[in-house]
Formats: sequence, C-alpha cells, structure tokens
Amino acid sequence: MLLAVIGAQWGDEGKGKIVDFLAKDFDYVVRFNGGNNAGHTVVVNGHKHPLSLVPSGVWRKKRLFISQGVVIDPVVLLKEIKECNPDLIIDYRVHIVMPYHKLLDSATEEYKGKKKTGSLKLGIGYCYEDKNNRFGIRVEDLISRKKLKERVDQVFELQKRRIEKVFRTKFNLDKDKIIAEYSHYGKKLARYVGDVSRIISSDLFIKDILFEGAHGTFLDPVFGTYPYTVAVHTLSGSIFPYVGIPPSKIDVLGVVKAYTTRVGGGPHETELKNTIGEHMLLRGREIATVSKRKRRCGWLDLNMIKEAHRLNGFSYLAITKLDVLSGLKKLKILVGKKYAELNGWGEDISSVKKYHQLPRNCRFYLKFIEENARISIKYISVGPERRQLVII
Ligand code: GDP
Repeated sequence: MLLAVIGAQWGDEGKGKIVDFLAKDFDYVVRFNGGNNAGHTVVVNGHKHPLSLVPSGVWRKKRLFISQGVVIDPVVLLKEIKECNPDLIIDYRVHIVMPYHKLLDSATEEYKGKKKTGSLKLGIGYCYEDKNNRFGIRVEDLISRKKLKERVDQVFELQKRRIEKVFRTKFNLDKDKIIAEYSHYGKKLARYVGDVSRIISSDLFIKDILFEGAHGTFLDPVFGTYPYTVAVHTLSGSIFPYVGIPPSKIDVLGVVKAYTTRVGGGPHETELKNTIGEHMLLRGREIATVSKRKRRCGWLDLNMIKEAHRLNGFSYLAITKLDVLSGLKKLKILVGKKYAELNGWGEDISSVKKYHQLPRNCRFYLKFIEENARISIKYISVGPERRQLVII
C-alpha cells in the first residue's frame, strides 16, 4: 500500500502523531519535503520526542528515507540521528542549508520590516532558492572535500557581495572554515547517503510505503496563502518529483485539526482574538515546536478543507486535537460565507477508545465535517499520546 499523510490547513495539524501511529503497518516512511523549520512531535508513553528532519516513523523502528524534496541542516540532522539512531537513507541529491543562507534569511526579514513573513531565519527558503538557481550544495558534494571546495568557491563570493552590498549587513563567515566544517559533516553523513529515488521506485509495489508531508496545504508556495507560504510544495502531487517516482496511485490521508491555527503572519479568516481563542491556545498547547511562537487560533474553516481536498484528493481524513474543544459551550464552523453554530460538549474525551463513546454533540461535530466536506473520517485523535486515537 502507498499512503501519503498531508496537512489540510497551515501545518501543525498533528501529522507527526498520525504518521507515528500508522507507521506500524508500513515498511518504509519517506519524508519528501521541507526542512528543519517543520517540526513534529510524537509522544510515546509520556515521553515527548520533537523531531524536525528524521521521519516520524523512527519510533516504530522502520526504514526511513529523506528524499530530494527535503533540505537539510547537517548540524540539526546529526543531532537528531544521535538521539534516535535511525535506519535512514538520505538521497544524494538533497540540498544543504549553508551558513550564508541563514544570514540572507535574517537580512531579508529585517529588510521587510513590518511586512515580514515570519521566517524562522533557518535559511531554508534561501537553500531552496539556490537549489532552483543551480547554486546549491548537495549532500553528494559534502562527501568529497575537493568537490565541496569547488562548489563553495563558485557561490561564496556572490552571496558575500549580496549580503554586504545589497543588504548592507555584516558578513562574518570564513570560506575555509565552512569547507572544513561541512566536509566533516559529510564524513559523518556518508554512511546514510544513497539513491532514494531508485530504491523507492523499484520497491513501489513490493513494499508498503508511507509518505510524510511537512507543513500544510495552505503553506504551498503556489496554492497556499501566498506570499505567507513556504518555499517548497506541500501538495500530494509533489510527492512524485520530490521522491523521484512515476505518478502512481497513492491514497491520501488529510490531517485536519478540529479548529484552525496558523503561526506567523498572513490571512486567517476564522481567527479568534478572545477567550475562546485563548482556550484553544492553552488547551491545545499551541506553541510552535521549532520557533516557540504562539499559534493564532480560530474556528474550523471548512472552505479550506474542501479546497485542500480539491488540491490533494483526500481518500479520508484524520481529525486531530478534538479533545481541545471539550468545555466550549457553542462551536462554530465556517461553511461558505456563514458560520454554522453547533452545540459543544463538556465531557473530557481524552480517554475515549471507541467512536460510540464520544458525546453526542461531539459525534455531531464530526458528522457535520464529513457531510459538508464530503470526505469520510477514519481517525480521531483525542490527545497527544500514540494510544489516544479512535479508529472508525
Ligand atoms: P505536525 O507538524 O503536523 O506534526 O504537528 P506538531 O507536532 O507541530 O503539532 C502537533 C502538537 O499537538 C504536538 O505537540 C502533538 O503532540 C500534539 N497533538 C497531536 N495530536 C493531538 C491531539 O489529538 N490532542 C492534543 N491535545 N494534542 C495533540
């Protein structure tokens, strides 16, 4: 079986937990896009495991892949590898976030001033820029010091000039130091490097493969809320070029948070700047995994879910963080231009195991989503723990 897990909103839908749960039934887990700006948290037996590059299937001891749509910061990846000792293969075509990408990122945010996009200044966007401009450094380049020097020589002076002359920002990087440091990372990563595209395409119909998407549908740089978006595609169709496999039938699980959150700037139609929004923030612990910024919370927006379905072709949905809505008297859902008002439920649902044990109003909330979005719900997450999942 081939299955993709895709966020239907602005990321942070709880994809990590869903991938961790599902991974038990798969042979491979493939992370296909994004960088270490996309964190995910898996909770197993009370232990929190925040990860940003290693696929969430790691706690199921599955074979993991990082395909070419991902960009990696070797410092971050090596730290995660040390923590969880994964069975990991990284595509040799994966691009590397370099120190000058981070400098460019902070210089740009400063330049944008009030209009900043909320970049985490991790250099991810600029790494993708270099990738597309053919100035990038790939994992394969790190492995040979000679090649790395050649590649860095080609781009270093240009980036230096850009930072100093265009942005008028201090450039304090030393080329030789960078080459020495990054070739050291290359040595450490060498044993994990392979041809993910080839392996996955040859095992496509032999193994069960789970494709883990980072970010969410509306952060897609084309179909998302541009320009408040990321630099990499997030839609299910991007799996094919980002892994390097031919178009094939892949089931798509859309992950929908029971309400809506977004981090950083940009439009958010259902945002609640009141005590209800605060309830969601506190109960849902809506603080970003990587940046620690507060997420902006609001009612569920079904228009977004329908649009996400149109773009991704969801086979079914997982609704996450439903437990967070417990205790709100009335719940609203945006459908078209109007808000439907539904009755809330007071019960704590975090230990519910079966669908019929959910309060009536809670089941009604789910039915409302299913009927209006015209997609069936297969999983309901009622807490951060792996076991807090209701399967329909
Ligand atoms: P991802 O990027 O989509 O994987 O999402 P994140 O990991 O950034 O954010 C989800 C956060 O919500 C994590 O801290 C999870 O542990 C937590 N979480 C996931 N599912 C649930 C749930 O059903 N209920 C609650 N209360 N927390 C959840």
